[in-house]
Amino acid sequence: MYAFAGHKPTPSSTVQPSGGTLRFQRCCWCTDTVMRPRLLCPSCGGADLGWESSTGVGRVHSWLKTPRRGHTPSVAVVVELAEGFRLRAQIVGVRPGDVPVGARVRFDPFHVAGDHLPVFRVEPTPVSPPNR
Ligand SMILES: [Zn+2]
Repeated sequence: MYAFAGHKPTPSSTVQPSGGTLRFQRCCWCTDTVMRPRLLCPSCGGADLGWESSTGVGRVHSWLKTPRRGHTPSVAVVVELAEGFRLRAQIVGVRPGDVPVGARVRFDPFHVAGDHLPVFRVEPTPVSPPNR
């Protein structure tokens, strides 16, 4: 679960409240990362799941557009974090659909969104120097 100021933790979320960092579980036996808090590893059944802090850096894996009757559709993204787990999130600072799949994003612990999802911002693309 995750929470920020003003957020209620949700059982379906991936991360735990910890001063604005994303936390996830990793199996001590098979090293798989676990998206939702669990007692047993879904990959190997191991009971030794430790908590780790994510770097908060990831890439947009896909978009989720949910129609809402009488309202504009809700748009969320699935972000794949550098540690290997994926979570549903919101992107701020750009219009929905302006961020391509594969775009590099970073977790923004200070931004609170209305859908109780972790918020990410698009990382600027580094400019490579010209070849000589
Ligand atoms: Zn495991």
